[in-house]
Amino acid sequence: MNRDRLTVVVAAFNEAQSLPELHPRVAAVLARLAAADGVDGSVLYVDDGSTDGTWRVLQDLAAADPRVSLLRLSRNFGKEAALTAGLDRVVDGAALILDADGQDPPELIPEFVARWREGYDDVHGTRLAREGESWFRRASAHAFYRVIQRLSKTPVPADTGDFRLLSPRALAALRGLRERHRFMKGLFGWIGFNRTSIPYRREPRLAGRSKFNAWRLWNFALEGITSFSSAPLRLATYLGGATALVAFGYGLWVVAKALFLGDPVAGWPTMMAVILFLGGVQLVALGMIGEYLGRLYEESKQRPLYLVDTWSPAEGVSSAVP
Ligand code: UDP
Ligand code: MG
Repeated sequence: MNRDRLTVVVAAFNEAQSLPELHPRVAAVLARLAAADGVDGSVLYVDDGSTDGTWRVLQDLAAADPRVSLLRLSRNFGKEAALTAGLDRVVDGAALILDADGQDPPELIPEFVARWREGYDDVHGTRLAREGESWFRRASAHAFYRVIQRLSKTPVPADTGDFRLLSPRALAALRGLRERHRFMKGLFGWIGFNRTSIPYRREPRLAGRSKFNAWRLWNFALEGITSFSSAPLRLATYLGGATALVAFGYGLWVVAKALFLGDPVAGWPTMMAVILFLGGVQLVALGMIGEYLGRLYEESKQRPLYLVDTWSPAEGVSSAVP
């Protein structure tokens, strides 16, 4: 009988404290899946250029467990690139993405597998509750999902992180998307196929702090919006059009006033107000164009998405990279 294969892909950046706690839980779940459901599971840890001894910890885990594959990137490329690197190396079977900090409970993996076997290609976890996260973090996430859903034609389900299972054909499709600015939530939505969600409670981190501070989240949001919508560019067009219309009307009025009523030199405040306002609008519009132009520039360089330092596949895992 052909057994299904599942690779759990974990991107880790400075998670030396969480991993020793997380791995036994993942291993226990995989052992149960192998025995009860006929799924051959393995784990692929991607060390995203950690500086805190994560790589040592991972090597110890791999030495003790033959189902562990290790991939180390040449530096910190960011979570999206690290996940891409991991998913690129899953050539056989399905992949499940899990956070290294224990916020996505591995105990739910069998539910994801069950949905996959029902025929779904993209099974994603939707957060019911976010424990241990600040009010600001929750409010900004809420606002972000509302904005991106309005602006983008690609479906990005709300409160859905990267905790998800991808079927082999969804993985193959994802591998075809090689853009450098990777907003994964959007890419998952773009490929389509049969999608379903599993509600779950997001737990607090096992240890350490979130790598995403307010500034990084803001940039992440910009990435999402510019990668999956050109609405801001259109907004600049409309804004420019509306301003030009108003300015034209006002210009007529100024000329008429000078012709019919005469014009003792006055109006410095109005003039300053208009100049400052128009200057501001122009700079905002230029900035929007710049955001897109900058991304175009990055794409045009055609650099690889990540560089690999070490790749040590577990027993029975193909070392090929498609
Ligand atoms: N991560 C990564 N590279 C980075 C930042 C984060 O691989 O540059 C990993 C991190 O180790 C964790 C996951 O991405 O497994 C989610 O990160 P974090 O918990 O900091 O984000 P949050 O859960 O707060 O969104
Ligand atoms: Mg986390």
